[in-house]
Amino acid sequence: MPEGDTLFVTARVLNRALAGKRVAAFKTSRDLGADPTGATIVGAEARGKHLLITFDDGRVLHTHLRMTGSWHLYRPGEAWRRPFSQARVAIETESWIAVCFAAPIVELLASSAALAAHPALARLGPDILAKDFDIASVVVGLRAAPGASIGGRLLVQQVVAGIGNIWRCETLWRVGIHPMTRVDALSDVALSGMIGLARKLMLRAVADPSASPSGSSVARPAFGVHDRSGLPCPRCGDRVGSCRIGDPIRHAYFCPTCQPVPSVTSTGS
Ligand SMILES: [Zn+2]
Repeated sequence: MPEGDTLFVTARVLNRALAGKRVAAFKTSRDLGADPTGATIVGAEARGKHLLITFDDGRVLHTHLRMTGSWHLYRPGEAWRRPFSQARVAIETESWIAVCFAAPIVELLASSAALAAHPALARLGPDILAKDFDIASVVVGLRAAPGASIGGRLLVQQVVAGIGNIWRCETLWRVGIHPMTRVDALSDVALSGMIGLARKLMLRAVADPSASPSGSSVARPAFGVHDRSGLPCPRCGDRVGSCRIGDPIRHAYFCPTCQPVPSVTSTGS
């Protein structure tokens, strides 16, 4: 699943191409109940892992890419890099065609009020990349499940929106905390520090001006542990391990030396 930084960059690139442009054609693989052709695109933005494109008639296109989806930008006449059959929605302007492929969630909301009342969006926690991000409120959210694992809680989008498996694993490795550590075993200073570090790492990733909307070219540092099971930890040389936690269950990677297993581990998410 794309991380919040990938969605942030995708929204930024789409916004630069589409904002202020008139919709010349709006094509979808199924009926979305309305057609914003003729409307002007106000802008594109990411909220956590959700992507929103707003039109001046008040409608909002909401997509969530999950594991399969991607947004691409093409010039008119340019060959698409994914099959036409996978296209879920295509927004055509005079100079660009924005195509969303294989996204499991594509819906056209009638108004900003519908957006505010949307069950998935209304419950989102603070966006890790937002300008007004408030670490203290995230710490409170993490503590709402004191017996849960910190590794599981960091992926709960209602607590903090935008952190995915990569930054969950890399942040915990950098601060030396095992993902199965219970939240209530960690101090406020430790929780604030790890959230602040996750934000710093993700802000650094989106600062790369060459990042493109195709999803894979957000700046990534060499990973310490993510997806490196059995390989040496860059810091101590021990073999990286993994455990399965969270809901849905995902592999959390860790270094057993840099992130020792706590004496009391959480069995929850
Ligand atoms: Zn290590």
